[in-house]
Amino acid sequence: MDEKITFRDLGVLPEILLALEKKGCETPTKVQQEAIPPMLEWKDILAKAPTGTGKTFAFGIPMLTHIDPQSSDLQGLVLAPTRELAIQICDELRALTSDMKGVRVAVVYGGQNINTQIRSLEKKPQIVVATPGRLMDHYNRRTLRLDKIHSVVLDEADRMLDMGFFKDVTKILDKIKILQPVTVHGKEHPKKNLGLFSATISEEVLTVSWMYQRDEVEITVQPEKEDRPDIDQFSIQVPQLQKEDALLRLLRIGGYERTIVFCSTKVMCQRLSDDLRRAGKNADCIHGDIRQTTREKTMKTFKEGKLPILIATDVASRGIDVEGVDCVINYDVPEENDYYVHRIGRTGRAKNKGVAWTIIGSFPEKAKLDEIAKYCRFEIQPMTFGENDTLEKAVIKKPQPQRRFR
Ligand code: ADP
Ligand code: MG
Repeated sequence: MDEKITFRDLGVLPEILLALEKKGCETPTKVQQEAIPPMLEWKDILAKAPTGTGKTFAFGIPMLTHIDPQSSDLQGLVLAPTRELAIQICDELRALTSDMKGVRVAVVYGGQNINTQIRSLEKKPQIVVATPGRLMDHYNRRTLRLDKIHSVVLDEADRMLDMGFFKDVTKILDKIKILQPVTVHGKEHPKKNLGLFSATISEEVLTVSWMYQRDEVEITVQPEKEDRPDIDQFSIQVPQLQKEDALLRLLRIGGYERTIVFCSTKVMCQRLSDDLRRAGKNADCIHGDIRQTTREKTMKTFKEGKLPILIATDVASRGIDVEGVDCVINYDVPEENDYYVHRIGRTGRAKNKGVAWTIIGSFPEKAKLDEIAKYCRFEIQPMTFGENDTLEKAVIKKPQPQRRFR
């Protein structure tokens, strides 16, 4: 990365530069360097960049630049797969507008009282961050209009389309008439602006791109050393029934201040949370069966540093960015490679060092983790518990050649 490039060089508005300065962001990340200039020139963007590389600002800055703060029309739309991610994007965009007068950003998502959201939409935001289902809901109730939207971004596009939102998404893009010309700030553009941002580019993402983008600029950010978060990865193998005990030991030995523990299922997530509380730990969980308001409260306490252990499912945690997570523990080996990448990407963010543990409870789990390590080219150091709450590098036993003859 060329260290000399600044946000100013990329043509970012002075009031946004101020906000970035306040956030301590000086140097644009690679995806920001590559996406901001063409997007400012109204190019469609298809960006693939690993988690934690700054995609939110990469699309947020151009979108904020394109909207007209004098107008009370809804002009920009960001779609996100989960409520938590939508809330987080909204917070980040609001942070960027700290020095922009009259710019309003609202967030709408399923699970929250619709009247609260209707009141926030009555304040006439120029940008709305939304989950697809709830956006359609508001559209059908006519509490929000799509006809003046000229800039759209799908964040975590792969996951969103993967989660069964394909129809909702295409319906929304059709209603917006994304392929029709539009005039913004007195300048005519052949179509409305669409950005697709994702950690991976799936078939569905390509289909949406093919259907709704024209002459798009493709950006690929490789998981380079520099951009790659600094995470030490370890695994520990224990009998299935001793996983909980192993988790408690890891927490005790590590003395971590903020840990996220991942489980693949809601049931396991809840049970572990209950067990840890019974063991006297200050832990709580978020998963799909927990009420939205409770989930938000839990996230808030965790972000404020008042909850040292958060237990989460993959979906509930998607895209969540909390500073200062020093450890991620995989209570089970995730089903898919990119789940592993997303899980451990919750730590080691913004150049801080992080630790990731994976607890292995069976041979298939071990095989799966080996495959993940191979595929992602990660080094995952196997460890074992030593005497008196210590950890040691595991000695990998090589199969002994059979010696039948002397
Ligand atoms: P992604 O969406 O690619 O996973 P995010 O947009 O959530 O990544 O950004 C990850 C973290 O990096 C956030 O805390 C964000 O505030 C921070 N960040 C983004 N851009 C920069 C930058 N240019 N310099 C420093 N920190 C940044
Ligand atoms: Mg993101």
